[in-house]
Amino acid sequence: MQETLKRYFGYDTFRPLQADIIEKVLNKRDVMVLMPTGGGKSLCYQIPALMMDGTAVVVSPLISLMKDQVEGLVANGIRAAALNSLNSDADNFKVRSACLRGDLDLLYISPERLILEIPFLLSDMKVSLFAVDEAHCISQWGHDFRPEYAQLGLLRDSFPNVPIIALTATADKLTREDIQKQLKLSTPSVFVSSFDRPNLSLEVKRGYQKREKDRAILELINRHPNDCGIIYCMSKKTTEKVAEMLMTHGIVAAPYHAGLPTEERERAQNDFIHDRVQVICATVAFGMGIDKSNVRFVIHYNLPKSIESFYQEVGRAGRDGLPSETVLFYSLSDIVQLSNFAKESGQQEINMEKLKRMQEYAESDVCRRRILLNYFAERTECDCGNCDVCKNPPQRFDGTILAQKALSAIARTEEQVSARTVIDILRGTYSPEIHHGNYDKLKTFGVGRDVPAQDWHDYMMQMLQHGLFEIAYDEKNHLKLTEGGKQVLFHGKKIELAVIRKEEKSAEKAKSKSPRSKTPMLFPTSTGYALPSDERKELFEKLRTLRKRLADEQGFPPYIVMSDKVLYSLCEVCPTTVEAFGMVSGIGEFKKERYGKDFVQVIREYCENA
Ligand code: ADP
Ligand code: ZN
Repeated sequence: MQETLKRYFGYDTFRPLQADIIEKVLNKRDVMVLMPTGGGKSLCYQIPALMMDGTAVVVSPLISLMKDQVEGLVANGIRAAALNSLNSDADNFKVRSACLRGDLDLLYISPERLILEIPFLLSDMKVSLFAVDEAHCISQWGHDFRPEYAQLGLLRDSFPNVPIIALTATADKLTREDIQKQLKLSTPSVFVSSFDRPNLSLEVKRGYQKREKDRAILELINRHPNDCGIIYCMSKKTTEKVAEMLMTHGIVAAPYHAGLPTEERERAQNDFIHDRVQVICATVAFGMGIDKSNVRFVIHYNLPKSIESFYQEVGRAGRDGLPSETVLFYSLSDIVQLSNFAKESGQQEINMEKLKRMQEYAESDVCRRRILLNYFAERTECDCGNCDVCKNPPQRFDGTILAQKALSAIARTEEQVSARTVIDILRGTYSPEIHHGNYDKLKTFGVGRDVPAQDWHDYMMQMLQHGLFEIAYDEKNHLKLTEGGKQVLFHGKKIELAVIRKEEKSAEKAKSKSPRSKTPMLFPTSTGYALPSDERKELFEKLRTLRKRLADEQGFPPYIVMSDKVLYSLCEVCPTTVEAFGMVSGIGEFKKERYGKDFVQVIREYCENA
């Protein structure tokens, strides 16, 4: 096992559970694997596939996923291919013959094709194991049910002696039990790994308006000058606007949403995968089937509708295990809009509940990772140290007078205005609604002039979370005082608010003085990850350029040629012989032979000039 791991994948050790899982499969036991995205599921069937007689058949729901996996394997010198409708007939014929000759270690196939092939191809070839990837697609309980998966129960009946390994990143209990039942797994060993992704930092920015969001986004991208990232937006229009904003600042960006013509969408996706587009601005339509390992940041421009969606989307960052950033923006208007969606959806109660949990995450003043893991029924004993709450615990102040001003404005308008108008009243801003309602005659008009509008947005959201008022979604989103709000307004009940963090602006100022701090790219050291010296960054960029050239020559995405993690290790170790190059983690024999010379040459030149 260890030898196969080193030889083909260039890794020295297995991750937790991998070795146990592989051993079970080698002993022809059925296995179920639950691991988060990026956890290392694929090796659990790829290693047995390389060690066992015959061909491993891998069921995968999406052609793009198959393509990515096959390319990754071929780039490691492994005999793998896919049977699917994108191939020409001639190609598929070749793949079939290879299967019959026993020339393939892994065959990727869609579920519907697999069912069709059972009496023909599969009965004539030697199958070592079946791997059912994205196994939650078989369950109606899951969030991604696919009818084509439903027939996979046939496998156990038709191949009683071939082990089945089911893999998914969806952890909930009902789905898990359903997968075992539907696939008819015989007394399977179930392996559940932690769903924590410690390399993803978590940050929430509350109450930012468009201009502040844009500034914060540009600042983040500046810190990742050549790294790829995804910005998730709620609407199609926003994806286009954000992409446009980035392009006017010289950043190569593209929008992606279901309303674009197919070719345009595919082009955007491909350009992103091949590092030709740095930032993709997308709706939730983007991401399924993207295995790109070097996504360094994921930004949510708006609040997602549930923690499941949120975790799946941020999970697309940092699959290679390197530090990656995630930032969630949210504002009152997101909550209003998402509540309206939830109300209109068929499952109002569930969806409102899910939104509420999402909101609680965003509002939390305890470690955010604990909330996430807790949501996925995983208990943690300690704070993570890699979320904004841990790094910068919120401070509180007596916000009673502030709250009273806002609540009084709501009361004096007879609860007939939205949050935006309340803020206009507090700030003494003339707007059509103010004229129309004669609100400039109110006693509260302008009493909150000393607080910037953006801060009022933040405080209002905190008050909403404290339950001081509600939003009447069916009444033009007008604000209504609650009993708790009346207590504060009329009976002087004290209320604590969190101090708004201004670190971003001061950080920006500090940076413009020292351009060096602009690129805190993380580099590995023996103790973990540390900032690189400027020269090492130069080497990194040289290696990145070489990787891109090699990838383009072969038509592969760059991360298939070599992950960011391997490039980082190369910068640290600086191997100047092909032999030493081959020792670096993540470089197997095939990559050593194929790429060693080129990389070593660049590293040597760099060392000579240094
Ligand atoms: P998943 O399918 O669970 O999303 P992958 O199988 O794609 O995850 O693995 C994620 C990343 O982790 C890949 O880059 C893979 O090469 C790497 N990886 C997996 N197992 C190991 C290991 N034992 N040592 C080092 N890296 C590993
Ligand atoms: Zn934390």
